[in-house]
Amino acid sequence: ESLVRTGADDVERAAEAALRPRRLEEFVGQRVVREQLSLVLEAARNRGRAPDHVLLSGPPGLGKTTLAMIIAAEMGASLRVTSGPAIQHAGDLAAVLSSLEEGEVLFIDEIHRLARPAEELLYVAMEDFRVDVVVGKGAGASAIPLALPPFTVVGATTRAGLLPAPLRDRFGFTGHLDFYDADELERVLVRSAGLLGVPLSHDAAAEIASRSRGTPRIANRLLRRVRDWAEVRGDGNLTLEAARAALTVYEVDERGLDRLDRAVLTALCTRFGGGPVGLTTLAVAVGEEPETVETVAEPFLFREGFVGRTPRGRIAMPPAWTHLGMSVPRDQGA
Ligand code: ATP
Repeated sequence: ESLVRTGADDVERAAEAALRPRRLEEFVGQRVVREQLSLVLEAARNRGRAPDHVLLSGPPGLGKTTLAMIIAAEMGASLRVTSGPAIQHAGDLAAVLSSLEEGEVLFIDEIHRLARPAEELLYVAMEDFRVDVVVGKGAGASAIPLALPPFTVVGATTRAGLLPAPLRDRFGFTGHLDFYDADELERVLVRSAGLLGVPLSHDAAAEIASRSRGTPRIANRLLRRVRDWAEVRGDGNLTLEAARAALTVYEVDERGLDRLDRAVLTALCTRFGGGPVGLTTLAVAVGEEPETVETVAEPFLFREGFVGRTPRGRIAMPPAWTHLGMSVPRDQGA
């Protein structure tokens, strides 16, 4: 089963890569971040220097990796990709850093998951462009400072608040990506349909956009599922009818909530009587890691007003009950 899943993931990743915007001007939405970033990049280009380090924060699938690639492309630089969890030891990071070439962009996804020693090594490298290479072992070990050429770190995190302040402070620019509105998602979909060469009707684009949880990655994924439906069950045209039928098959409801979102709401309303309930307890109830519930499901559920946060935990808001087809309990303050 894991082989099948890996294969399917690869296919999805490749499909995703094909739809990535390559330039800042092709990047839809996020007007504020786009403008700020374009200034940072243009100023750096004019000075002939590597731009300041950039931190991108926001829920998954909003374009952090895409922006990192765009930063490298706009600077005419090459991109190195790694991630917090992939770096097990400070030595792994030292090896990456010491092999960087001038002007290169180092993308560190999930940077909040770096281990403490690697984090400390990174501060110094970002600030002083230096890495201390440890030679020898035990009492005889010594650190030899190695100068690094100027480079740019682009860090991505689902929540900037998860980053220790000293690391956060090393970034000259922090861009916060927010969920996309329906118009922006429609533009993402129209662009993607054009690249894929599939006929997407206007009302189908609007329907898919409204069910994409404000997330371009989800919009593109649903577009591919609607295309599957249209090709297998329909006449190949991505119509409103095809969109609705496909999204029903894939259990994406009319508000765009997926299986995990609904599991969270259901647990909150039925098992915990609407809360308040702590994140960890809630995560156990839906069989997920707390971090997944917190970074993948909750930002959207909070934003859409399904779930509220109190000092004692998460609570179901009236729309949660209504969405599950239940009546709002009297004491839930509708
Ligand atoms: P994660 O944190 O999970 O890695 P991410 O925020 O890095 O997610 P990306 O991988 O950059 O997200 O984007 C996911 C998909 O959404 C890509 O296929 C990309 O084509 C598309 N996408 C993201 N943002 C935009 C945008 N602004 N315009 C057009 N397409 C976008």
